[in-house]
Amino acid sequence: MRVSVQAGCPSCGSPNLALAGTIPSSDLFAGQQLPKPRAGGALYGCRVCHLAFRFPCPSDDELNNLYETGCADAWTNGQARKDWKIAKAWIDERLPVGSSILDVGCFDGGFLNTLGPGYERYGVEIQSRAAEKARSRGVNRIAASYAELANWSDRFDAIVAFDLIEHVRDPANLLAMFAKAVRPGGLVIVSSGNSDAWSWRLLGARYWYCAIGEHISFVNPRWARKISRRVGLAFERSEFFSHTEAGALRKLTEISRNVAYRLAPAMTALARRMGAGGKQARRFPELADYPPSWMSARDHFICLCSKPTI
Ligand SMILES: [Zn+2]
Repeated sequence: MRVSVQAGCPSCGSPNLALAGTIPSSDLFAGQQLPKPRAGGALYGCRVCHLAFRFPCPSDDELNNLYETGCADAWTNGQARKDWKIAKAWIDERLPVGSSILDVGCFDGGFLNTLGPGYERYGVEIQSRAAEKARSRGVNRIAASYAELANWSDRFDAIVAFDLIEHVRDPANLLAMFAKAVRPGGLVIVSSGNSDAWSWRLLGARYWYCAIGEHISFVNPRWARKISRRVGLAFERSEFFSHTEAGALRKLTEISRNVAYRLAPAMTALARRMGAGGKQARRFPELADYPPSWMSARDHFICLCSKPTI
């Protein structure tokens, strides 16, 4: 289906967009319970740059305000994150101890903490309480917003950004800033959801990852390969992973719930109205369509790019 969104693709401006469906409403933002649900809007895909995005989506001021008031431990999930382990292995393999590492969206400094004090550790973080925790762990917070990266050129040995792209209106511009701020020969490592994952394709706009209110942009390794080349980075490799270690029973339960949601959404809506998942679907009927969680799905990717030396 060919549609026109007034301003075109938020990244490349192309009007060549495909409507992928309606995103369910959500009553959470950055781990914070909202007084009433926010409408999810629609999911569009750009046929030119392969970005998928939420439209309409909150203004930058509204987003920043929601992040600032968000939960201080919204994205803290311990030391065992798979993307952190993969990124640490890539950094260990390619860079000497003592290198300068910038984590954009460092939150409470969890990843930089896993590298140890031997590195120069820098962070960008908007949420002041989380940034305070990062500072207490020895992270030098150089900016609150990634927009300030525009002031840096050829500075860092590696720039990492875990689960940041999906929060940014123009991820290609973000990658371009990373390409400028990293030194020649340095590394850029990013992770995000993979919109090409089979679980995602099964549910489209109604996939759990899209329903999370603060997720506004959706990418995949095809996008990363294309955009990294455009901004002057060499795309080297990518890996797929799941954020949640799950046994066979949990995997089967999540698959069953999501297949049922796909094939018989009225069943899920009934369960929601009966209180399943803690949603106030009786008070707010739009929450009855909120998707089941699928945290065990292998629906994330991490990629390694490098900046050529000439
Ligand atoms: Zn585009």
